[in-house]
Parts: sequence; structure tokens; C-alpha cells
Amino acid sequence: MRRIPRVSDVIEIIAEKALLVGIGGVVLLILSGVLFFYGGQYGGTLPLAIVLLLVGLAMSGFASHHAWQIKKVQRFDVVCSYCQANNQLVDKPENDFTCVECNRLIPIKDNLPLPVQQVRCGYCNGINFYSEKTEILLCEECNHEIPIAVDDENRPKKKLAAAYAIVDDEMSYELLLVGKGNKTEDLIGALQHMLALNRNQVKQMLDELPCVLLTGINRRKAEMLQAQLSIHDGIAEMRVIADNQPSVR
Ligand SMILES: [Zn+2]
Ligand SMILES: [Zn+2]
Repeated sequence: MRRIPRVSDVIEIIAEKALLVGIGGVVLLILSGVLFFYGGQYGGTLPLAIVLLLVGLAMSGFASHHAWQIKKVQRFDVVCSYCQANNQLVDKPENDFTCVECNRLIPIKDNLPLPVQQVRCGYCNGINFYSEKTEILLCEECNHEIPIAVDDENRPKKKLAAAYAIVDDEMSYELLLVGKGNKTEDLIGALQHMLALNRNQVKQMLDELPCVLLTGINRRKAEMLQAQLSIHDGIAEMRVIADNQPSVR
């Protein structure tokens, strides 16, 4: 398999060549002009002026021909699986290559970028990505290994839920409510139960999102409450607050 060059790299090489030759050509043309105008009084410079003129013309011609090639460079668009940035190659990609924008290795299969799935790191909660090509996934933020569930053919499962790193850690979390859906009444009811607050207190909270619902809870509890809130269209996020024992078990 060959590495397909980027359009920008190819253009750079061509442009550099065209520019160098072009500058050389222009310099020769100027020199020949100078000889034509001022060389006469010394005599014998006319043949040299003609030679310089011809070489200068040839070089300028070569340079503009090269510059013209830039327009003819083939472009093949590859959208990054991670950040959706457009990567232009001169041909279909044959193997994985690094994205210009996010610097991640874009997985390629059958000349096309593979879709990637998101997974949250069990240690730092950072978002990571994997594709069916991923064998070992190390967290981009904290370098911990994130276990990926695999199917019978030893490929990572497509489903997001199955890929969640199931790690019961010892860290303390806080749960934030960041969004409410259309089932506001349901959500208010659920929050009243969850937080032992009255209706007005909960309504006031919903007017000032995002807000911290609970703090110092363990991972399992945070995930459970997050799931409960999502039933009522509430969008909750969990955040690590400290690297110590949760105060509530
Ligand atoms: Zn990218
Ligand atoms: Zn991590």
C-alpha cells in the first residue's frame, strides 16, 4: 500500500519549483535587457544578450507551465472521522493517515474513513474515540487503558453502551443538570424526589441551568441518577471533583 500525498504538499512542491525557476528566468531576462541597452558601447555583448534572452524565456515558460499543473492536481476529499475536517489527498486513501486538523490517525478501510465511536474514560471522564480497527485504546487525556467490549469476531462492538468502560473507581463525582427537555413537569417531580426540595425551589433551579444537583457521590450513583433524569428528558453531566473516597456510598 502506498501513502497518498496531501494536495497541499504536492502543490507546495510544484509551486516551489515553479517559483525558483521563474525567478531565475526573470533575472536572466533583466540581465539580457540591461546588455541590450547598455552593452552596445562596449561591443560584442549582443550574442550574450540573445543567449540570456532565450534561456530566460525558456525558464519563464517552464515556470508558468509548472504553475499551470497546480490546477490539474487531482483532489480527493476525506472527511476526518473525529473532527469532520476536510483532508484533501491527490487520490483515494489506501491506509490510515493523520488528520490535518486534529492530528488523530484517521482509520481507513476500503479507501474510505471508518466511522468512530465515542467512549468516556473511566478514570478522567475524558471523551475518546475508537473504530473497529482499534485494538488497545489509551485515554488521550490521562493515558489509562480504556477497555473496549469486543464481539465474536474480535471487533469492538458498534453500540456505545457496550463500549462504556465499566470501571468502579474510588473517585468522587458531582452531578450537574445542564439541560431540560419538554417534559418539565415530570422532571420537576423527579428532582423533588431526588433532592428533597419543594416545587418552587426546583423550578427556580431549572431557571438557572446549569446547576449542581449533588456533589460527593460515587460513580455508580451518579450514573444511576443521570439515567433516571434522562427518562424525563433531563440532561445531566457527571464530573470528577476529587481523587478521594466518595462521601456518600
Ligand atoms: Zn480530524
Ligand atoms: Zn482518561
